[in-house]
Amino acid sequence: MRRPLVAGNWKMHGTTASVSELIKGLRLLALPGGVDVAVMPPCLYISQAIAGLAGKNVAVGAQDCAVEPMQGALTGEIAASQLADAGCRYVLVGHSERRLLLGEGDGVISRKFAAAQSCGLIPVLCVGETREQYEAGETVAVVMRQIGAVIEALGVGAFAKAVIAYEPVWAIGTGLTATPKQAQQVHGAIRAQLAAENAVVAEGVRILYGGSVKAASAAELFGMPDIDGGLIGGASLNADEFGAICRAAGS
Ligand code: PEP
Repeated sequence: MRRPLVAGNWKMHGTTASVSELIKGLRLLALPGGVDVAVMPPCLYISQAIAGLAGKNVAVGAQDCAVEPMQGALTGEIAASQLADAGCRYVLVGHSERRLLLGEGDGVISRKFAAAQSCGLIPVLCVGETREQYEAGETVAVVMRQIGAVIEALGVGAFAKAVIAYEPVWAIGTGLTATPKQAQQVHGAIRAQLAAENAVVAEGVRILYGGSVKAASAAELFGMPDIDGGLIGGASLNADEFGAICRAAGS
């Protein structure tokens, strides 16, 4: 039985004051016991979130890490070891905004995935197809290629301590959501891809859905057999909405 995970990706949002308000809201939430909950603030606010959420069952993660695991001469980057030192538990790798806007390719993403794991962080590998790829019927092929690149670089065993987030690019921040049936089809294909290499790893890995998830759509998505929670962008900036999504994962 996989324990659901709901993670809030705050993206490049927040100020010291607004983060403080959001943390206050998160602290007031009634969260379900059987669900892992995490938030991923911009790096500047990670320490504030960790201090503010102390004693609350909400882990903190980062949105990216450097390809090199240890601190060193790499201007502007943040090492996975530094994120672990700050108290992070998770780190996103390969978010589509970084793949598409910053040109991150599968090689760089595999290195970040490995760097995170070598420092004890849980990488959340984001995969998903663009609208053009979706319309061309390439969804499963694209997602399998993105996951296959990590398997090829690090072996399927790397997914024993990792999370996958399927996020169709056309659904991110657009208000469009894959139907539960569409999402389940992709999640099932991902699990089958892993099972072809290692059935135990495939059965254990959590596969989150992301893309305009709201409280109103969460329960039906999370009710699908291969959807193990969500990666939540916009809706995670509202504590009450985020709390309702977390509770949907626990129902
Ligand atoms: C995301 O960016 O990971 C995401 C899922 O965003 P949104 O929920 O806003 O679509």
